[in-house]
Amino acid sequence: MKTFQQPARETAVRAEVDILVVGGGPAGIMAAEAAAKSGKKVMLLEQRGFLGGNLILGLPILSMLDKDGNQIIKGATGKFVERLQQRGMATGHKRCKLHISLTMVDPEAVKTLAWEIMDENGVEVLMYVNVVDTITENNKVKGVIIESKAGREAILAKVVIDCSGDGDVAFRAGVECRKGDERGRMQPPTLMFSMRGVNIDQVRDNVVNHSDKYGMDIMPPEQFRQGNFTMVGYRDQLSDAISKGFNITVARTIFMTGLKDDELWVNMTRVSGGDATDPASYTAVERECRRQMYDVARYLIEYIPGFENAWIETVPPFTGIRETRVIVGKYVMTTEDLLEARKAEDVICVASYPIDLHHEEGGDCTLIYGKGSYDIPYRTLVPEKVEGLLVAGRCSSMDHGAMAATRVMSTVMAMGEAAGTAARIAVEDGVEPSVVDIKKVQAALIENGGYLG
Ligand SMILES: Cc1cc2nc3c(=O)[nH]c(=O)nc-3n(C[C@H](O)[C@H](O)[C@H](O)COP(=O)(O)OP(=O)(O)OC[C@H]3O[C@@H](n4cnc5c(N)ncnc54)[C@H](O)[C@@H]3O)c2cc1C
Repeated sequence: MKTFQQPARETAVRAEVDILVVGGGPAGIMAAEAAAKSGKKVMLLEQRGFLGGNLILGLPILSMLDKDGNQIIKGATGKFVERLQQRGMATGHKRCKLHISLTMVDPEAVKTLAWEIMDENGVEVLMYVNVVDTITENNKVKGVIIESKAGREAILAKVVIDCSGDGDVAFRAGVECRKGDERGRMQPPTLMFSMRGVNIDQVRDNVVNHSDKYGMDIMPPEQFRQGNFTMVGYRDQLSDAISKGFNITVARTIFMTGLKDDELWVNMTRVSGGDATDPASYTAVERECRRQMYDVARYLIEYIPGFENAWIETVPPFTGIRETRVIVGKYVMTTEDLLEARKAEDVICVASYPIDLHHEEGGDCTLIYGKGSYDIPYRTLVPEKVEGLLVAGRCSSMDHGAMAATRVMSTVMAMGEAAGTAARIAVEDGVEPSVVDIKKVQAALIENGGYLG
């Protein structure tokens, strides 16, 4: 590869803070809120012009409940959802045979509430900045380098929390990172979109009255009679459309209710081999998903009763990324830990979502259920060698199978709260997050209403 030697230059320090959170997605919002408790100076950096990350894609928050219907994701995440519910902007937690539980949230209300929480807690938010490097001395992260319209600047911090989804900070700081399965193949990206003008009662009736025809994956028809639902099925109709030339790459029809009574969100575009850490690849994904979106909408209108008068209403501003880098942390959570429902001394949240692998190639998906709820250990947020850094969200330390479960938004939000809490306590006690008193972290999480088993 051709290279270019950049001359050394002075970089202005824009800010010095106690705790710096990179990424304003579900993990980052919770991390910033928790970090800012007791007056810590906290800054949140976000490359886009809104907060929420994947939480604004029209997806339900999965698995707030365990398989018996008990709420296990509580604390700051529970309060976030309750505040949305009070505004009529989130549904209740509906149990689901396939996805354990579904909680629909309104994307615009998420963005607004996230801002309110940042303001209430005195978090300084800086948008339209991209973290491109770290300031690392003797294996300790001391800050990050950002690029924006203002040029290249530095931000110094006692602790940095990487909630970028892609492990951007950790990767730049030299933390060992991994991608995908044993061959490096990652779960495919999807551009979500919503359709309005859907006759949802007709969709429900057809599912309930013709469940054999609509071939849903393990969900009993009763689940569709009322309340939220995610439809996963209609395989035969879809393969017929594909045989007739529709540009669709998934094997199952997947759509879910939104907050409006004629609205469904569609999760059916897919590009195998896309890598969001490579801009050329992510660009190709955006182009291809947009092409597929119109064929998916046409398929739904032509094949699925209830969609006859529907139209595409909302297309989120980016294609959603299921998987890129994960770090190698003090502990790598394994598929077996999850399936065996293992407990951990340093538990920071309890999760219940099964392994949900959208196949890296082909259009199908596999769900694997374990023995029950499992603990997420604090060590999965702590890089193995680099100090001054925590990593929360879908890029925390998991193997490919475990990550396919822990990536859901309930779990990443709880991880974010734990990382923010640990960073705050580490700063207060003048220690590295890697050796923070975990009992204090756990007590603080429980004091904020958290559930640790
Ligand atoms: C198509 C799809 C369907 C899914 N379905 C569900 C579902 O139904 N239910 C569910 O619970 N979960 C679902 N998931 C998983 C879930 O949405 C994600 O795993 C989760 O949102 C990850 O949260 P995060 O905070 O780690 O990362 P993200 O949500 O990706 O947030 C990362 C944030 O960091 C910002 N950022 C990234 N890099 C930088 C940088 N260098 N500098 C500054 N800012 C940066 C981004 O702009 C973003 O705001 C789905 C995911 C996808 C893609």
